[in-house]
Amino acid sequence: MNLKRLQGKVAFITGSGSGIGKAAALRLAEEGAKIGLIDLKGDNVNKVKRQIEEAGGEAIALDVDVSDPVQVKQAVKEVIGTWGKLDIVFANAGINGTLAPIEDMEMEDWSKTISIDLTGTFLTVKYAIPHLKENGGSIIITSSINGNRVFSGFGMSAYSTAKAGQVAFMQMAALELAQYKIRVNAICPGAISTHIDQSTKRTPELDKIEIPIEFPKGGSQPLEDGPGSPKQVANLVLFLASEESNHITGTPIYIDGAESLLR
Ligand code: NAD
Repeated sequence: MNLKRLQGKVAFITGSGSGIGKAAALRLAEEGAKIGLIDLKGDNVNKVKRQIEEAGGEAIALDVDVSDPVQVKQAVKEVIGTWGKLDIVFANAGINGTLAPIEDMEMEDWSKTISIDLTGTFLTVKYAIPHLKENGGSIIITSSINGNRVFSGFGMSAYSTAKAGQVAFMQMAALELAQYKIRVNAICPGAISTHIDQSTKRTPELDKIEIPIEFPKGGSQPLEDGPGSPKQVANLVLFLASEESNHITGTPIYIDGAESLLR
């Protein structure tokens, strides 16, 4: 008996060259899904593709900037051209971007974060919908505790606005797409050990606005006293992608070891 939960399914995963997206790609592939690996960094997704293939799975790797509508549309077309269908979309690519007080935030820094984190999500969902409509499906969006429960990420006004926007967008989409049996949910991670710091630019002006916060025993993650792992998040993505969550839509799910309740 074949117990793989996503056998025969096709998934489109953005930001799958690193961190949460990579872990989700490996986990979903392990459960039988064929994976369209989408990332700005083509070398990284090529490595993930090889890892999936070595484990007996199927994947294609595409070098795509999710903030560019032409590239996203083409990427969806390539996945459809390869496997003829689409069932699961994980809109996950994102950056922290430039952290600065609002009065010092440059317009281009604001726009870059919004266009990758929020507009990138819109574009990924938009171009996937015509294909998901054929058989129903599951869309999962990576938001954050920031912008939803936590507002103490000083200098992260663009990031938090994008992350809050993703949850509003997810709820609009869930209602709009329910008639096509397309479920749409968001995950809101707390600190997870990934390479996200490489996309973070701290400006010296931050010193003007930071309010020091002290956590009990020095730890801000009560459950495990440390950040979560991409693998833990990948298991949540698997649940939301699978039939086991088939009555869940329009919901943000926090995965943060209670970090957001403390902050
Ligand atoms: P990561 O940096 O390890 O991975 C992000 C991936 O997205 C990278 O491979 C990067 O190349 C890709 N990417 C960036 N800009 C892109 C673009 N324009 N087009 C295509 N791909 C692009 O970080 P991660 O932590 O795995 O981040 C994944 C998501 O998780 C992000 O949306 C992030 O905001 C969110 N998140 C992360 C944390 C955390 O603590 N790590 C917490 C909450 C939310």
